[in-house]
Amino acid sequence: MPAKVRKTEAEWRRDLTLEQFRVLREKGTERPWSGEYDHVFEPGVYRCAGCGAELFRSDAKYDSGCGWPAFYEPTSEDALETEEDRSLFMRRTEVLCASCEGHLGHVFPDGPHPTGLRYCINSAALKLEEE
Ligand code: FE
Repeated sequence: MPAKVRKTEAEWRRDLTLEQFRVLREKGTERPWSGEYDHVFEPGVYRCAGCGAELFRSDAKYDSGCGWPAFYEPTSEDALETEEDRSLFMRRTEVLCASCEGHLGHVFPDGPHPTGLRYCINSAALKLEEE
């Protein structure tokens, strides 16, 4: 398992932008089609904007049309944690960074081959390291 990153709320506020803090630490959702990476398909590695952990690779990114960056799989099984989310009168599966427990987005069972999963992730939770 990846090393755990722990910070106080004040430290997270200091280290993150307002939008990053709202998404990662307060489980916010950016407006659809507004995020930096929605339509970016450059080759590279997507890291957690909170702690820098490697989360997704551009190979697994696809255009789902949903308005947020979508991936069909994470870089590794233990990069992410999931939790049941019953907010907003829906039952969804929340996706968190396994290292810093930052909120990333949700995963849905309507993705493409080969996993059938759609990791719907906020751009604000990601940092692309281009290759
Ligand atoms: Fe993280």
